Amino acid sequence: MPGAESDRKFPVEAVGALGLAGLFRERWSQGQHGDLGRSVVIAEEFGRAALGGVGVGVGLHLEAAVPLLRGFARTEYARKVFDHAMDGRYVCCVATSEREAGSNLAEIGTKLSREGAAWRLRGTKWFVSPGGAADVVIVLCRTTEGPALVLVPREGVRVVKRLETMGMRGLETCRLAFDTEIPDEAILVRPGMALHAIGSALIYERLSTAALMLGALDLALLVTATHLRRRKQFGVPLYEHQALRLRLADLIARTALARRGVHATVAEFSAAGVVNMCEVAGVKVTVARLAEHVASECAHLFGGHGYVEDETRFPQLLRDIRVGRVGGGTDEMMWELAAKGMRTDDALYDRWVRS
Ligand SMILES: Cc1cc2nc3c(=O)[nH]c(=O)nc-3n(C[C@H](O)[C@H](O)[C@H](O)COP(=O)(O)OP(=O)(O)OC[C@H]3O[C@@H](n4cnc5c(N)ncnc54)[C@H](O)[C@@H]3O)c2cc1C
Repeated sequence: MPGAESDRKFPVEAVGALGLAGLFRERWSQGQHGDLGRSVVIAEEFGRAALGGVGVGVGLHLEAAVPLLRGFARTEYARKVFDHAMDGRYVCCVATSEREAGSNLAEIGTKLSREGAAWRLRGTKWFVSPGGAADVVIVLCRTTEGPALVLVPREGVRVVKRLETMGMRGLETCRLAFDTEIPDEAILVRPGMALHAIGSALIYERLSTAALMLGALDLALLVTATHLRRRKQFGVPLYEHQALRLRLADLIARTALARRGVHATVAEFSAAGVVNMCEVAGVKVTVARLAEHVASECAHLFGGHGYVEDETRFPQLLRDIRVGRVGGGTDEMMWELAAKGMRTDDALYDRWVRS
């Protein structure tokens, strides 16, 4: 799997092995939200193993495509896709973003229209991960009655380009084009309901992204702490320089707090059986921004070595971690969602503010 990064290919065998081992079924075994704790553990471990691209790809399969299939598969075909996805026989992904519509999915151009007795899907999706490796792509499209989600098997997909991404190169993010017939049984979410469905599924992907970032930070901080003990400058280990050990202590403390925050949030959601979408958005943006800062500071503590690919893996980490602020919704979109969940208290306000 380490070759996934250099080969720029998503290792489908990762999904196959985890599915075969029963991990996906365990993740989604119970209740409306499945076992959220297991989702966090899986993602953290990918981050900790420095397999960001593979981990995000598995996450998009397990935490974006699977919840859509689990929640909406009604036809025999859709249920077959769901079963195969759960067993790791199919790699699935979700194609929503387009050239002109990223944050605002209401503006998509990909169209599903009636042509005689059949449906036809036409359009291009911009960043689909792992688009080149997927057996089935769940495509967001517009119809005269509102946005819908349809299932498109590999044969109906044209890979226009494997994109040269800054990082997460094992994720195999692609531009995909569609001009294919869609049978009724491949309509996963009926027209008008798709944006709501996507919004609900993204909750899981966002939690998983936050967990993956925290796993990656765990690794980075451990390597950096070891480096401060081993590397000497001015005759003493770097650790003996107060400026450096205090800086690292601050990064460790903030990351530990974020990890506990994610774990506690997930534990609370699990106990209540309810997931708060606004809170998840706040968690995702906060962790993604912290992760970028911590990874960059760790690289800094390696001096020039942190910048050089031949000497450390920090260049890859920095490239990978950047996507956390974009994938699954950008910082601003997350803050917008978090803002929707803000509470107010007029009685408290009146006690505190003299009019
Ligand atoms: C590596 C990678 C993998 C991806 N994988 C997938 C995938 O599998 N499936 C998929 O569908 N998509 C995928 N994406 C796409 C991703 O979800 C989008 O890039 C993201 O939603 C942002 O859309 P955009 O790039 O069009 O940016 P834009 O929407 O054009 O945003 C540009 C900037 O403007 C800001 N902005 C936009 N609107 C507002 C506003 N109203 N208020 C304030 N700020 C605003 C944004 O926050 C951003 O900073 C992937 C992207 C990357 C980089």
